[in-house]
Amino acid sequence: MLQHIGLLLLGCAGGFVFFQIYGLAGLLIAFGLVLFFGALAGFYQRRSKVIDALQRSQKQLHEAQRLARIGSWEVDLVTKEVYWSDELYRIFEIDPTQGSGDYGRFLQTVHPDDRKRVDQAYKNAIESHQPYEIEHRVLTADGRIKQVRERGETVYADDGTPLRSIGTAQDITDIRRMESEMSLLGTAFQHSGEAILISDHENRILTVNPAFTTLTGYTQEEVVGRNPSILSAGRNTPEDYAKMWAAIKQNGYWQGEVWDRRKNGGIYPKWLSISVVFDDEGNVRYYMAHFTDISAERAAEAKLHHMAHHDMLTGLFNRYSLKDRLEHSLAVARRNSGRVALMFIDLDRFKGINDTLGHHVGDELLIEVSQRLHKCVRDSDVVARLGGDEFVIMLTGLEHSSSAATIAEKVLSSVGEPYSIGPHLLYTTPSIGIAIYPMDGNDSEALMKNADAAMYHAKNAGRNNFQFFDAKMNEAALERLGIEHALRLALGREEFRLHFQPVIDIRTGRVASVEALIRWQHPEKGLLAPGLFIGVAEETGLIQPIGEWVFWAACRQLADFRAAGIPDVKMGINISAIQMRSSDLALLAKGGITAHSLAPGDLIFEITESVAMAQPDETVRVLDVLHDMGVTLALDDFGTGYSSLSYLRMFPLDKLKLDRSFVEEIGQDIDGQVICDATIGLAQNLGLQLIAEGVETEEQLDYLKARGCNLVQGYLFSRPIPGDEVMAFIRARNG
Ligand code: C2E
Ligand code: CA
Ligand code: CA
Repeated sequence: MLQHIGLLLLGCAGGFVFFQIYGLAGLLIAFGLVLFFGALAGFYQRRSKVIDALQRSQKQLHEAQRLARIGSWEVDLVTKEVYWSDELYRIFEIDPTQGSGDYGRFLQTVHPDDRKRVDQAYKNAIESHQPYEIEHRVLTADGRIKQVRERGETVYADDGTPLRSIGTAQDITDIRRMESEMSLLGTAFQHSGEAILISDHENRILTVNPAFTTLTGYTQEEVVGRNPSILSAGRNTPEDYAKMWAAIKQNGYWQGEVWDRRKNGGIYPKWLSISVVFDDEGNVRYYMAHFTDISAERAAEAKLHHMAHHDMLTGLFNRYSLKDRLEHSLAVARRNSGRVALMFIDLDRFKGINDTLGHHVGDELLIEVSQRLHKCVRDSDVVARLGGDEFVIMLTGLEHSSSAATIAEKVLSSVGEPYSIGPHLLYTTPSIGIAIYPMDGNDSEALMKNADAAMYHAKNAGRNNFQFFDAKMNEAALERLGIEHALRLALGREEFRLHFQPVIDIRTGRVASVEALIRWQHPEKGLLAPGLFIGVAEETGLIQPIGEWVFWAACRQLADFRAAGIPDVKMGINISAIQMRSSDLALLAKGGITAHSLAPGDLIFEITESVAMAQPDETVRVLDVLHDMGVTLALDDFGTGYSSLSYLRMFPLDKLKLDRSFVEEIGQDIDGQVICDATIGLAQNLGLQLIAEGVETEEQLDYLKARGCNLVQGYLFSRPIPGDEVMAFIRARNG
C-alpha cells in the first residue's frame, strides 16, 4: 500500500516536473512511465509471494518427513541426477556435506546380507514396470542396525524407456521393536501360567488368556463383554468387594484372596491382583486382573494346622489345642459366671493289652475309645488325647456340677463295653477325675492338675469309677445320680403319691378346691417332698411321664369326690415348664375329662409365672386352647417373676396365686405388705380371682380378708394331706 502511495506521489511529482518542462505531452509521458513501473513492481511482488509459499511448503514437507521418519529420493535415469531429502540422509546416516547421495552410497549402507536382495528388487521393478516395496536392514557406520521400509516406482517414456525413479524410505526400527515387544507380551499373555483377564473402564471383560479358561472353565467367547462378577462364589461379602474397589480407586492396585466358582460349580480360593491402566488424561482405560488358584496351598495349610492341633492317631485334639480351648472357655465362663468341667480319663489295664498284643492292636483300641468318647458328649464339648491312654473331656455350659457326673457315667458304660479288634475281644475300663471351674481352680493349670489328682483318686478307689476333685461334690453328685436312677424306677414301682391341700373361700369358710402336690415314697429315704426330685425329673425328661401320672391320679381323686357326693370342689394340678413346651396338654385334659366324666372347669391348671413369661407367645397359644375347652387357668407363684402387664392381659387366666413369700411379709415388713396390697389390687383390676398361698397365721388371714382377697391356702387350715384325709376335711367344712 505504502509502495502504491509512494509511486502515486512520485508520479504526481514527476508529472508536475515534466509538465513544467514539456507541457501536456510531458505530463502524459510521466503518467505512462508511472503505469509501467507500477506493473513491473506488481509482477516482482507476486513472484516473491509464490517463492515464499514454495519455500514454506518445502519446509513443511521436510518437517513432515522428519516426524514420520520418511525420506524421499528421486533419480533422473537419463541425466543420472539424484535428489535425496534431508530425512533420507538422516535415515541412512550419510553426511550431505560429504557429497550428495547416490545409488552406490545407498547400497553401501544396506546390511551386507540384504544388499543383493535390495538391489535385485529395485532392478526388477524397473524392468517389470511395477512399483516395489521391500524391508531391509541398514548397518550404520558405528555398527547399529536399523530397519527400513522402501517403496518406489519408475516413470517411463512412451517408448518404455525408464526416465526417472522416485521412492521413499521409512525408518521402522522403533515400530518393529514395539511390535516384537508386543508379540513377546502376547506370547507371555498366551502362555502365562496365571489366569489373566483384561476388562474395560466399565469392567466389561475384553479378553482372557488360555490359563483363565483352564482355571475357570469359561472360554473367551463365554465371558467377553460380561462383568467378572460372574466368577464370584458368593462367599465374599459386598463389603469385601467394596473395600477392594476403594483400594483400586485410591492406589490403582489391589491384591488379596477371594473365593470364586468354576463353571462346573466347584468353588476355590484364588490370589488375585488387579491393576489399573490409565489413558493420557488419567482416566481408567483397562483393568488388568491376574490370579492363581491357591486351593492347594490352603489345603496344605489346613492339613498342617490340623496336624499341629490334633492327635495323629485318633484325630482328637492334642494337648496344645486343649489348653487353647480350655483357656478360651474359661474366659467365657468368667464373663458369664458359668462353669467348665475338666474330665481326665485314663484307661485301666491298657498297658497290658499293648504289651501282650502289640502296638497295632493298642492303637486300634485307642481309636475306638476316642470314637466312643465323642459319642458321649455334645458337639460343642471338647475331646482330646494327651498321649498314651490319657484322654480329656472338657464340658462347657453346665447347669449343675452333677451334669458332669452324668457324662462320666455315660463314659464309664460306653468305654466299658467290649472291643472287637481283629480276632480279639478286649475289655478296658476308664478311671475318671473331674475338676470344675470355678470351685476347683481358676485357671487351666490348676484345673488340669486337680483333674489329674482326682483321676489318681479314682484309680486308688478301685478303677472303673469317677471322682470329683472336691470330695463334697462327690457326695452331692452321687446323691443326685442315685435319685436319677431311683426316679427312673419309681414310676414302675408305683412309689409316687398325691397329697392334697385345701383352698378355702374366706367368706363362706368352705373348701373351694384342693391342690394336688406330688410326694415320692422313696424305698430308703422315706416320703420325699417335690423340691428334692422335680428338678432332676425336669432335667432328665422324666417329668413328662410323671406329670401325666399326676394328672391321671388327680382326675381319679376328683372322680372319687364326685362319687362320694362332693359336687363342687375343684382340683388344682401343677404343670411343669417342660410339659408346657412339649406335651399336648389339651389332648391329655380331654382324655381325663372324658374318662372320668368331669366338667372341664373342675380342673385348674397351675402354670408358674416364670415359665409363662419366659415363652409368652407359646404360652398364649397353649392356654388359649385349654381356655376354649373350659379348663380353669391359674398363674402360680405370682410376684416372683417379672410379669409384663401386657402379657398378663393376653393370657386367658382365671386366677392368680400370690406367692407365699409375700404372705410371709404380712405384719413383718412394710415393703412386702405394699407389694401384697398392689398385687391384690392388680388381680381385682384384671378381674381375676386371687388365691393367697402359705397362710399360716390369723393375722395374715385378717389382713388378706380386709384387702378383699377371697381364697386362701396354707398350714393355718391344712397341710397337704392324703386323699381320704382331705375328703374328710372337706366333709367337715362343706357339710
Ligand atoms: P407350689 O405349686 O407353690 O406349691 C405350694 C407349696 O407350698 C407346696 O409345697 C405346699 O406344701 C407349700 N405350702 C402350702 N401351704 C404352706 C404354708 O402355710 N407354709 C409353708 N411353709 N408351705 C406351704 P410342696 O408340696 O413341697 O411343693 C413344692 C413345689 O413343687 C410346688 O410349689 C410345685 O411347684 C412343685 N410341685 C408339687 N407337686 C407337683 C406336681 O405334681 N407337678 C409339678 N410339676 N410340680 C409339682
Ligand atoms: Ca401350685
Ligand atoms: Ca405356688
